[in-house]
Amino acid sequence: MRPPICEICNERFDSGSEGLISFAVDAQTEDFDRRAEQPGFVGHRPNRGWFCPNHASAARELVDLTLGDALSALRATSSEPKPEPKPSGDSAEAQVPPTRRRPRRPDADAGLVEAEVAVDIDVFELHKQLLVFRPVLMAALGLPDEVELETRTKRSWTPMDGAREPHCPYSDLLASEAQHNGIEQGVSLDSSWWNPDNLANASARLYIIDRPSPNDWASYVCRLSGATDHLSNGDDPVVRMLRIGHREDAGVAALIADFAAGLSPGGSAS
Ligand SMILES: [Zn+2]
Repeated sequence: MRPPICEICNERFDSGSEGLISFAVDAQTEDFDRRAEQPGFVGHRPNRGWFCPNHASAARELVDLTLGDALSALRATSSEPKPEPKPSGDSAEAQVPPTRRRPRRPDADAGLVEAEVAVDIDVFELHKQLLVFRPVLMAALGLPDEVELETRTKRSWTPMDGAREPHCPYSDLLASEAQHNGIEQGVSLDSSWWNPDNLANASARLYIIDRPSPNDWASYVCRLSGATDHLSNGDDPVVRMLRIGHREDAGVAALIADFAAGLSPGGSAS
């Protein structure tokens, strides 16, 4: 885990409030999670970044992107000059490198045809639709689909303003996943809650990843995802954009376009 230093302005801040934000799970994060299961492993999950109170809300609106894409977008729109890190007697801060180094590895998104399609669907309904669509998509891709998905749930608490579990905000992950014949696939729903009556944001995604053996780099065959905006109390948890990535294949492209068209009221559901 890195110390709480804002990814955008390099400001070190009090992490007692909030600020550690999770972005879309990319193949690097999937690799990290696999290694994290080994004893003695410590590290910072690659899809998470710290954001100071000035930058957290803008960052939260981009949680459907990968961290790298979100940072590119945020830095492009941030008008702030990059301040020098403050001098301090804190040796931990002095050891933080100015830029993060990532291992060089093949781009998991290489060769993907990407698109965004306007939709209008409740995020929980989108999650259900992705579960139904997954086997249809697997069949269209010509991939064997002989295994049941295993479903797991995980709740992570975020202590803030003196409130702790079970009275503080939390995030729920509902993930249905399988690995078989070098293909990893899953459908997941991530939701962040201020409290049980007040959803902060949520996203649903479907992914199919090709990884011939556990030590190989992963590459995407297909991924679909959609996220709500940052919600105020009483807002409907609506997804307005479906992000699509898939390998070049006209039949699969048409199938996904048809699926996306059905995710709006009056959309063509064929
Ligand atoms: Zn900042």
